[in-house]
Parts: sequence; C-alpha cells; structure tokens
Amino acid sequence: MSKKKIAILGSTGSIGKDLVDIISKDKKNFEVVLLTTNQNTKTLLKQVKYLKAKNIIVTNKKEYLLIKNKIKKVNIFNNFNQLDKIFKSKVDYIMSAISGIDGLEPTFRSIKHTKKIAIANKESIICAWNILSKELKKNKTKFIPVDSEHFSIWSVLKNIHNKNIEQIFITASGGPFYKLPLSKFSQIKVKDAIKHPNWSMGKKISVDSATMMNKVFEVIEAKNIFNLSFNKLKILIHRDSYLHAIVKFDFGLSHLVVHDTSMKIPIFNTLYEDKKFNGKLKNINLKKLSYLNLEQPNLKKFPLINILKKIPNKFSLYETLIVSVNDTLVDLFLDKKIQFKSISKIFFSTINDKDFLKYKSIIPNNINEIIKLKNIVQKKIKSRYI
Ligand code: NDP
Ligand code: MG
Repeated sequence: MSKKKIAILGSTGSIGKDLVDIISKDKKNFEVVLLTTNQNTKTLLKQVKYLKAKNIIVTNKKEYLLIKNKIKKVNIFNNFNQLDKIFKSKVDYIMSAISGIDGLEPTFRSIKHTKKIAIANKESIICAWNILSKELKKNKTKFIPVDSEHFSIWSVLKNIHNKNIEQIFITASGGPFYKLPLSKFSQIKVKDAIKHPNWSMGKKISVDSATMMNKVFEVIEAKNIFNLSFNKLKILIHRDSYLHAIVKFDFGLSHLVVHDTSMKIPIFNTLYEDKKFNGKLKNINLKKLSYLNLEQPNLKKFPLINILKKIPNKFSLYETLIVSVNDTLVDLFLDKKIQFKSISKIFFSTINDKDFLKYKSIIPNNINEIIKLKNIVQKKIKSRYI
C-alpha cells in the first residue's frame, strides 16, 4: 500500500501534537509533506527529524531567519504563499490546526492541495464558511470537522440528511469558573483562566472556554457546517465533557454521542475514519452516563452567550466582527492589559459601536475582506486599551 501523504498546519500546537503522536505510532504508512509553526522551532525540528518531514513553514520572521541556514534536507518557507511548490500533487490529508483568524488564509489555500481536510481552526469555519465551502466543492475536497462536538454530530449524520435534524444540543463543561460566585470574578487571574478542568488546550481557546465564548463559536460553527438556523441549536452544561452532543431527528430518534475526554478520538477518526483506535480506550463510563447532570448555562456569569440572540441567520461579516473583537480582548487579557470581567463588558460596547453594525448585512466575498475587518477591529480596540 502506498504511503498516505499528509500535512499538519500548526503541528506544534495542542491539536497538532496530538496528531503527531497518532501518526508516530504508524510512521511507516505516512509521508509527511509539510509541518508548520509560528515560532516553536524547537518542537518543530524534533517533529521533522522523527517524521522525516520534507517541508516546513515557520511564520515568525525572527525564528525563520535563525534556523533557515541551519537545517539541511528540508525545505523551509516563511509563509503560506508557496504551497504550489510544496504540494506537487494533491496530498491525502491536511489538518488545519493553526489558532485564530491567522489560520484562515492557510486553510483556504490548502483546500485545493488535498483530497481531505480536517479543520480544527474554528475561526475559519465561523468567519468564512461561504468561501471555504465553495472552495471545497470546486476542488472536490472532503471536509471533516475536528471540534469534538461537531465531529460527534458529523459522525451521526453519515447516513442521515441534515434536513431531518430538529434540534441539536451542544454540551459545554462550563469551564474553570462555573462554580465560582460572580462576586469573585474580578479576582480571576490569567493562570486560573487557562486551567481548563477537563481539556488541555492552547491558551486562547482555554480563555474562550472560561468565558464560554467557545460555545458561542461552536454554535455558529454547527450552524454553518450543518446548514441550520440558530433556533435549532442549544447549549447545555455537562461538567464531565463526556457527552458531546445530542442530535434529535424528526423521525423520532435522538442520538447522544459520548467519548472519552481526549481530542485524539476525533482527530484519529478524521484521519482513518474506519480503523481501530491506536491508543488506549476506556470502557463506556456508566457512572457518568447515569449522572449526566445537564443544566442551562448561567447567563449572568457568562453574558457573552447573549450575543447568539443578535446574530442574523444569514451569514455575514458580523461573525468576523465577533471573532475579531473577542480575539483581541483575549490577547489583551493574556497580556494582563485588561481584567477577565472586562472581556464581556468591552466586547458588548465594541460590538454595539454604530460603525460596526453595518457588518450584519455585508457578506464577505473573499478572505481579504475578512482579514481587513479583523485588522480594523484590532487597531480600534488596541488604540483604546493599550
Ligand atoms: P495552540 O495555541 O496550542 O496551537 C496553535 C498552533 O498554530 C501552533 O502550532 C502555533 O505555533 C500555530 N500558530 C499560532 N499563530 C500562528 C500564526 N500567526 N501563523 C502561523 N501559525 C500560528 O492551539 P490549539 O491546538 O489549542 O487550537 C488550534 C485550533 O483548533 C484553534 O482554532 C482552536 O480553536 C481549535 N480547537 C482546539 C481544540 C483543542 O482541544 N485544543 C478543540 C477544538 C478546536 P506556535 O507553537 O509557534 O505558537
Ligand atoms: Mg469543542
């Protein structure tokens, strides 16, 4: 059997490393065409050596220049402009796991170079789904979502049409502050916010889990991927992160999807689809199943969820606005420039800025329009709060 050609965008991140672990157990069946990082060249070079990767991209200029002349037998690039040189023909699988809107351009540019793309970068799906889905169709590229909830929903839809979906509940752990009284939210530190109770993830998505903005993103993601209206999607708190989604169909059945709290399960299945999992699997956890303890989210503690009521069903640049405002505020929080509680306060005051409301009715035509809006938002917020 010929080797599967694969590429991992963001191989040094939490999702990227999980995938590297998975293919490391089956090295002989893979040819790694490309690995990428922003600045973590130490980890990247270890991965390159171990997986014998042919090409790498290091986007951080300083790190790129530092290692450019030191490595041999591997082609090194500084950006995603030369994918035509890297991919001579379509590869079998690309994982898009760069974080933030910065992952959009690499994701878009990769679609034509692969037979299948697994997209973890939720920002791409949220902000540019109309553009990505066109590109997927045009290039006959198969798409599988990686986010555990969306992978779970995707897995039950294999032989069922989306139009049969009556309702979907997406579960949320509630993050590290679910039990913390609101009066103590002003004392929250960065180190507390990035400590997720169930998942080990990158810093940005961990803060989004703490504010529950991650669930807002996931509702928009599900609405786009499965072509639903917002009223079919609901959030439920389930502290254990064992149940990922409940899909209710109009023919009377509902599917509940559970899996161990490991991103390796969805990642593995986007890669192999029909193979026995190559890691350790636990037995079905009947104790957790007996006490799912499903609850409604507390909107006083997690006010960002309220934004879902304001997003039009028709796709627009408003989604980019939401992602960009949030991303900028999370960066400011991680840099200790604003408080945790200020994230939601500044979020709503910015979103309601009259200059921005027009984006509710503007549909993006290309990814440059999305990136341009992100830059405008970033500049505006940073000029006020730095
Ligand atoms: P991490 O922060 O752990 O990793 C991000 C990866 O992208 C790293 O390789 C990083 O390089 C690279 N990167 C960051 N910024 C840039 C940039 N400007 N240009 C090029 N590369 C860049 O993130 P996660 O793995 O946690 O998440 C990745 C994506 O998957 C996100 O969109 C997230 O929302 C989504 N996701 C993650 C889940 C999880 O469990 N972690 C679950 C569901 C979705 P470097 O190492 O140098 O920083
Ligand atoms: Mg998720």
